[in-house]
Amino acid sequence: MPKHYVGIDLGGTYIKFITLSQSLKPGKVLQLDTPRGADAVIDQMVAGARQVIELNKLTRRDIGGVGVGAPGPLDFKRGVVIEMPNLPGFRNVAIRDRVARGLGIRAVLENDANAAGFGEYLCGAGKHKGDMVLLTLGTGVGGGIVIDGKVIRGAHGVGAELGHLIIVPGGEPCGCGQRGCLERYCSATFIAQRAGKLVKSGRRSTLKKVLDAGEPITTKAINQARKAGDKLAAEVWDQGAYYLALGCVNICRVLDPDRIVLAGGLVNAGRDLMAPVLRHFKALHWKLATPKTEIAIATLGSDAGVIGAAGVAWYSRNV
Ligand SMILES: [Zn+2]
Repeated sequence: MPKHYVGIDLGGTYIKFITLSQSLKPGKVLQLDTPRGADAVIDQMVAGARQVIELNKLTRRDIGGVGVGAPGPLDFKRGVVIEMPNLPGFRNVAIRDRVARGLGIRAVLENDANAAGFGEYLCGAGKHKGDMVLLTLGTGVGGGIVIDGKVIRGAHGVGAELGHLIIVPGGEPCGCGQRGCLERYCSATFIAQRAGKLVKSGRRSTLKKVLDAGEPITTKAINQARKAGDKLAAEVWDQGAYYLALGCVNICRVLDPDRIVLAGGLVNAGRDLMAPVLRHFKALHWKLATPKTEIAIATLGSDAGVIGAAGVAWYSRNV
């Protein structure tokens, strides 16, 4: 009986590989560069999967399935990547079946944000915590929803796109074509951009030194400036936390999950982020009942996606 599953996390820069045991213990991770061109990418995925099986001292016969996590949009039914914005030329690629054929092992395809949510649910901050929602705060804001142990994709495969909850009607334009999306207000990129715009508009701030040195303003620099007493940095930081909390309240109204888990570079700020988020969350939450949904920081870091991809293969083992 196969006792392990392989996870592959396809990104624009790297492809990550891992094995996951039947008892959900992650093995060693392998990371390879993402080559250019669909054929080269598929070859690299197949070769990397073979290498990670060997790296973890397993054989092909120990493997019960392969899970592939990829950025969308995806066609789940056909196992096809419709487009990968970070990989030009990667269009309508039957990634699931080509990887399965290359390895001679059944494969499943999952959206990368959903996979990260499932990874945290199985092995990280959502472990044994019932229904869980993951928000990844990076360049954009990714979402993953796990209810009753199952990843929620929606009727058309585009559910859980929590970064595109509209929280400011008529607000900032978003790349998705809507206005006022959550990610335009609390992604690390947007918080940093907003600080930059305000400094350039002439607002007084110690962050000007960063711009004058030709460096980009980062959320880390904003947090440091805020702690040193910079008013503009404090305002921008608090506003990011406010919108993030607003998103969390809306998630509670729809799903009432046990936990909302926050991931991505921004959570490196730890309590500096959590304290204002929790304060706004309490203030914005309805008063019909005290908030019971916990908000926590992810624990798997950048491995959540690859662990979750293997987890999706594990989950579908009897299907
Ligand atoms: Zn949007």
